[in-house]
Amino acid sequence: MLIKSQANNCLVFVNLLTWSRMHETAIVQDMFRIIDQVAEENQLKRIDRVNFVIGKMMQVVPDLFYFAFDAAKEGTIAENSEVKLEFLPIKMKCKSCGKEFLIDNNVFYCPACQNTDLDLIQGKELLIKSIEGE
Ligand SMILES: [Zn+2]
Repeated sequence: MLIKSQANNCLVFVNLLTWSRMHETAIVQDMFRIIDQVAEENQLKRIDRVNFVIGKMMQVVPDLFYFAFDAAKEGTIAENSEVKLEFLPIKMKCKSCGKEFLIDNNVFYCPACQNTDLDLIQGKELLIKSIEGE
């Protein structure tokens, strides 16, 4: 697709490189460094499944994540693997009264005392929970 910029005369060429700027692609690429390392350490010849744990604060879109994973796994020992995502809800702790609660509908205040000064205690996870292979 070719898009002409309104601001000046330079052309913006939109192609597959667009995908490389996706949040999910960057995450998957980082993850593949870990997957490669784990595979090497454990002398795996084949990876069947990678299980991820992702906090909801990370705003990962499952379909984009699957797409990025499928693109990244080509030609690697994870080529025929599948991916499983487990999402963790956002959990906060009130700095005033100490109450811990889950965030629903992006409402970021303490349900007990309405304080908005909160500590995030869960929701920014980005982990490989397990890798299955042989
Ligand atoms: Zn509170």
